[in-house]
Amino acid sequence: MFDTVILGGTVVDGTGAPRRRADVGIRDGRVEAIGSLPDADARARLDASGLIVAPGFVDTHVHSEIALLGHGYRFGSVLQGVTTHFTSPDGFGWAPLPPELAHELWQTTLFAVGHAPIVPHWRTIDSYLSVFPGNTPVNIAPQAPHCAIRLGAMGWAGRAATEGELEAMKGMLEAWLDAGAVAISLGLDYQPSAFADLRELVALAKVAGGRGAVYNAHIRNNILGREGAWRETLEIGRRSGTPVHIAHEYVNEVTEPLLDAAPAICDLSFESYLYPAGSTHLQFALPTWAQQGGQRALRARLEDPVQRRQIRDAMQQALSTSVASGTRQVIAANRTGRYIGMTLDEAAAAEGEMLGDFAVRMFEEEEPYVLTINHRPGGPEVHDRMVELTARHPLMMVASDGIYHGPHPHPRALGCHARVLRMVVRERKLLSLEQAVHKMTGMPAERFHLDRRGMLKPGYGADIVLFDEATVADRSTWDEPLLEPVGIRRVLVNGETVIEDGRPTGKLPGRIVTRQSRSA
Ligand SMILES: [Zn+2]
Repeated sequence: MFDTVILGGTVVDGTGAPRRRADVGIRDGRVEAIGSLPDADARARLDASGLIVAPGFVDTHVHSEIALLGHGYRFGSVLQGVTTHFTSPDGFGWAPLPPELAHELWQTTLFAVGHAPIVPHWRTIDSYLSVFPGNTPVNIAPQAPHCAIRLGAMGWAGRAATEGELEAMKGMLEAWLDAGAVAISLGLDYQPSAFADLRELVALAKVAGGRGAVYNAHIRNNILGREGAWRETLEIGRRSGTPVHIAHEYVNEVTEPLLDAAPAICDLSFESYLYPAGSTHLQFALPTWAQQGGQRALRARLEDPVQRRQIRDAMQQALSTSVASGTRQVIAANRTGRYIGMTLDEAAAAEGEMLGDFAVRMFEEEEPYVLTINHRPGGPEVHDRMVELTARHPLMMVASDGIYHGPHPHPRALGCHARVLRMVVRERKLLSLEQAVHKMTGMPAERFHLDRRGMLKPGYGADIVLFDEATVADRSTWDEPLLEPVGIRRVLVNGETVIEDGRPTGKLPGRIVTRQSRSA
């Protein structure tokens, strides 16, 4: 007796194999049978005729874990069929830390999670992970957060780690790996991780790799430039022997030759959301010395007239260079809700201010954050070429980098996966449906050794999405980023329906999904 059978659909199983007509039988939250099951005994029978039946999507980089608890656009990602979210993107995580440090890091990362009414107080990894089961619509795959690990070992210190501090970091990483973490996650343009040197990164990558986990990094793009940051990552992969994964990247003339060279150097993969714009906080444009110490230290620096002027000049230079290069930085969220949807230079001009003065005033008045969407220079032909090169790249998988709060988020949050199915598969035919689904399911699941997720196979978790390949589409745009996708009919997580006819059912069957043990 099955709990549920899904009848008459076309199965795209996540491995990249060709589609086939098959029914799917589910019991106790797992797929039990795939084949011809028209007369099987089942408590519930779902008609999937005319629909694709695929594994739920796995998002390896998504700023969702707090939104999933109900503090933000809780279903923004789930509505697209995403059923497993990795925690701690960019190394952002707040456990296990003493309360004061956790609070400081929380303030510094608010641009990614929004003003959720949460006081971070997780002194242990278990106390953090225990927040999620039964409280989220989807599964959570933990990553070890480098920001918290470094902060716990050495505070906000802006220098290389001592031997003792490095040992403390290794110990914390081991504890996360014991808890099933699939990767060490790093944000090397952010504090305090920006001060990690190659020795630290190779040592931590070795610990992760020794346990079958991946080194997953927002690389040091801002500090070293893209080429330098890619080269550093390849070197970390080479020296550690650990699989390395580069977050939110894309293929163009800078990265294409590096990707060609990579297989001879190390075991590399990368992910992309395929939009021609990024999103981060305004502090990102500050020189590293001015970011050191997080929000509280920045506030203190602004009270010193000399440092204030240096910060003003640095922001003036960085932002005007960015404007001159054709980058458009649109304000997506902040504390007061002003200037939303305006570019930084429009907002500064409206106030009759220079960009540097405007930025300093924002740091003070919008404490603790200004989130922007940063449109990269180049016309449609440049962006189309980027999509074509990136989507087809064999080392690339899809991840949204979605941020689920604020009035004007990047449209990737509610659109990324549905946009791939619409634009990359149906309209531009850059990938077959089977290939695209693989890049959103089986590929990330295998890369990060998820325990029986990301494919439709007997014994695997019953995370399943039913969609209409002819109509599935994102609707979120730069101007209306909160429009929900269409064509995703039903989403099951651990066998329970969380989205039905494109609407949340209210069920919260999410569990913790860990790294598969090596003997398994
Ligand atoms: Zn990032």
